[in-house]
Amino acid sequence: MPYRPEKKKRPWRDDYKPFQSVREDHSFYNSRKWRKTSTAYREKNPFCVKCQEEGRITQAEVTDHIVRIKDGGEPYDERNLQALCKSCHNRKSGKEAHGYKEKGGRGSKHPR
Ligand SMILES: [Zn+2]
Repeated sequence: MPYRPEKKKRPWRDDYKPFQSVREDHSFYNSRKWRKTSTAYREKNPFCVKCQEEGRITQAEVTDHIVRIKDGGEPYDERNLQALCKSCHNRKSGKEAHGYKEKGGRGSKHPR
């Protein structure tokens, strides 16, 4: 058989969760435009702003929206962006999302 008619069930969408802790529209965070914006922003702002406030220099890993898109924040406006390291970002999203476990990453939910 030259090809299989079997349809793939969008594996790229189910498996790819770069921002697991953020309960927002994942399709936005997966979009090329956002990734470009995010990368460009962090090139200009390579350090975590929260850590800098506390006098630490930490490499930023996440571009965060100060006002969430859900709340009407501008998704691509640099004035609504801030560079955060992972732990500051997790702390922030932990505070924002109700019921989200603050100490994430325990990896306790293995399906088998
Ligand atoms: Zn930080």
